[in-house]
Amino acid sequence: MARPDFTITADDARALAASARVCGRPMLRRVHDRATGTEEVVPIPCGSTREAVCPACARKARIIRMHQCQEGWHLTDEPERPTHANSTDDDGEDLEDEDDESGSGKRSRSTRRRQNLPDLPKLKMSDRTVGQVFTAPSGRQFRPSMFATCTLPSYGPVHVSGAPKHPGSYDYRRAALDALHFSKLCGRLWSNLRRCAGFNVQYFSVIEAQRRGAPHLHATIRGAIPRATFRQVVAATDYALWWPSFDQVLYDTDRLPEWTGPDHGYADSDTGELLPTWRQALDRLDQDPDAKPAHVMRFGAQLDLQGVIPEHADQAVRYLAKYLTKAIGETHDCDGDPAFGRHLDRLHAELRWLPCSPRCANWLRYGVQPDYAKPGLIPGQCRMRAHDRDNLGVTRRVLPSRLWSGKTVDQHKADRAQVVRQTLLAAGMDDLDLDRMAATVTLPDGTPRFAWTDVRPDHDTYVRLVLDSIGERQRWRAQYEAAKTAAAVSTVAQPP
Ligand SMILES: [Zn+2]
Ligand SMILES: [Zn+2]
Repeated sequence: MARPDFTITADDARALAASARVCGRPMLRRVHDRATGTEEVVPIPCGSTREAVCPACARKARIIRMHQCQEGWHLTDEPERPTHANSTDDDGEDLEDEDDESGSGKRSRSTRRRQNLPDLPKLKMSDRTVGQVFTAPSGRQFRPSMFATCTLPSYGPVHVSGAPKHPGSYDYRRAALDALHFSKLCGRLWSNLRRCAGFNVQYFSVIEAQRRGAPHLHATIRGAIPRATFRQVVAATDYALWWPSFDQVLYDTDRLPEWTGPDHGYADSDTGELLPTWRQALDRLDQDPDAKPAHVMRFGAQLDLQGVIPEHADQAVRYLAKYLTKAIGETHDCDGDPAFGRHLDRLHAELRWLPCSPRCANWLRYGVQPDYAKPGLIPGQCRMRAHDRDNLGVTRRVLPSRLWSGKTVDQHKADRAQVVRQTLLAAGMDDLDLDRMAATVTLPDGTPRFAWTDVRPDHDTYVRLVLDSIGERQRWRAQYEAAKTAAAVSTVAQPP
């Protein structure tokens, strides 16, 4: 029998989901209720942070980040200290000790490979992380914080569109390397600022793309630092990358090193000579008195610093998170300017061949075995995200400091969920309905009540489930709004 003409296609369902702010590409899982013997297919949101992939999930992720930013900015009490080092998932401070990325921690670094401390006035650093309170002559007290934007230097003059005026002389190599290692330069900035500001400066920072495709840093900072000090620190901060040199191409794609097996790794295919391993290459670098860092970088002269009072925080947080749901390479569109598209293509091409990390397959091109070398590595085909045209060298976008809010992203998510849950419970919703099929719900014998398995959905199941979740979201939303209104009314109605 022919389907009626009003059949909803998968594309229709996705578009509806986006407008109803429901995940349009959920993973579907079958859940077997062992108490009732029934089965149901349940959609799990995809959790993407990118609008182009899933508008609903990206929006949700952005709101949680804004919430996290908001919560730490004007803290008046010291946050709880995380109990163990790995308790945050995205701690920018780790980057300060990045040199030993292989993670063994055993490597003894020569003094030369350590960063020189810039010649800056140093204050004794207190453990304080909250901002100081100032009292105006009027007696009014305020606790100012800061919003900072730091940029990278020029790689050549650009048009308003972001495309270079002289593509032939634009320094794409430097632009690509600066993008790849920008978060490390930022890490240096924070540790230098702490030394000079005299307190344990905390920040919530986001790496965004400028029109020219270079990353820049937006940061909310708790507490105020004198502008002169801040400027001095930015100007003095540098980052030196102590990696083996990758200036010279020793193995081009027509003659690649060969894998000899797990004992020795890669060798020259003509001479059979083994390539130095990552560790050997680093040791050579340490022992060479004339060695130079593979790359040295600094911030550009453009620096924007603003004092922000709590009353204006909302606006600044929205600005900070404005492009979070877009990839670096898709942040700005070219308004049809083909030169801009060519510019990003050229930057992407440069990034294709540069080593992104110690494990990058591109090291073979420069005659070094990547860290943890394995068979099948081909230069120019590293799968790490830094090489993607969407990312243009930048893989970590949100870098909060460890003591920003004293909470992890998961805790912030849980906080949000808890607010919604409490409101719905207060409105008389069923607890089991909210807990629907959670792994923590058990049978009397203590075993999980719900058993989950993956499902590959057919078209009709997919459409039905997405439409169901739209309906469910609308129902919950209505109940949530009604419950909030009822709560507000009862608060207002209460005598003072
Ligand atoms: Zn989604
Ligand atoms: Zn790579």
